[in-house]
Amino acid sequence: MYVIDAIGKDEPYAFPYLPPYLGPIRPPVAPDANGHFAYLTPGSRDFLAVHMYGSVRRVLDIFESYLGRKIEWPFRHDYPRLEIIPLIDWDNAQSGYGYIEFGRPSSAEDITHSYGLNFDVIAHEIGHTILFSLVGFPTTSQLPLMFRAFHEACADVTALIGLLHFDSVLDRLLRACRGNIYTLNELNRLAEVSDTKQIRIASNNARMWEVGSEPHDVSRPLTGACFDIIAYLYASELQQRGLIPRDLWELAYETNEMGEAAHHVSEAFASHYANRHFAFKAALVEARDIFGRCLVSSWQAMSPDQMSFESFGSALIDACRIISGDRHVGEFGAIFRWRGIDISSATPAFR
Ligand SMILES: [Zn+2]
Repeated sequence: MYVIDAIGKDEPYAFPYLPPYLGPIRPPVAPDANGHFAYLTPGSRDFLAVHMYGSVRRVLDIFESYLGRKIEWPFRHDYPRLEIIPLIDWDNAQSGYGYIEFGRPSSAEDITHSYGLNFDVIAHEIGHTILFSLVGFPTTSQLPLMFRAFHEACADVTALIGLLHFDSVLDRLLRACRGNIYTLNELNRLAEVSDTKQIRIASNNARMWEVGSEPHDVSRPLTGACFDIIAYLYASELQQRGLIPRDLWELAYETNEMGEAAHHVSEAFASHYANRHFAFKAALVEARDIFGRCLVSSWQAMSPDQMSFESFGSALIDACRIISGDRHVGEFGAIFRWRGIDISSATPAFR
């Protein structure tokens, strides 16, 4: 992949306008004498270009590690490399065939508010590319609604998993919520300004019968289910490691709402979390990685032409069964059912 810092690109790519970018560009950013880029000043245009490259590489590293192999570009037959454009004159960000490109909010005064400085947005966009690589493209000329909704949810979850790989985020997150990640916090403010400017929350209460017909909206119950599964796996790890009692473990993932009960659970969590930050953090890392591995396995197993939330849920359970046996199967099913996604009705959608 390569960064092209285009000058004055005021049109986003849209078929048939595609890479490579042939207009004027700024010169490539050079490393210092030791080969590092850390000398660049945050807020500078050069920093933005390097940040984009580093963030994309980071997300790829994480998912290649779950996969155990290199992620091939889904567009490799037409483009050998991904073109990354850090800043165009556009209030949006997008990934497409052979490229990702980022703008900034029209209200932003300077480049410090560029989408290319927002890790969540970058991880979401490269998440789409990873998904097209592992799931593939449907054979229909238009992408079906459920395929698009699945993509949006999984791109959000890619950003969530990416975020959870920052040590500083894990520390701040657990300290802020005192061990109980169901408390609304940093983790949930996923892609605060997204490609459709919708504010999406991973820890949402959306169910299938409540959403409309716009793909980002339809994606919400699935994003929420994935968040619930990470939270459940975390509570389950804590219980298994003797860090919280079983009754609290059961309450923790059943109390997916605010109010008195949630407050009680939070206080109980906090008392167990006190002085055990690193033990709790290890449990969260384990939950994140179990889920990450299940995620890439299920993506690889799915057929892009028979995409449904049900078939994704059932592929996720199959993947989890290989990693952890049957012990999480019932809970995964219950989490999806609560969202209105009935896995028992899933038709086999495997390649
Ligand atoms: Zn998206």
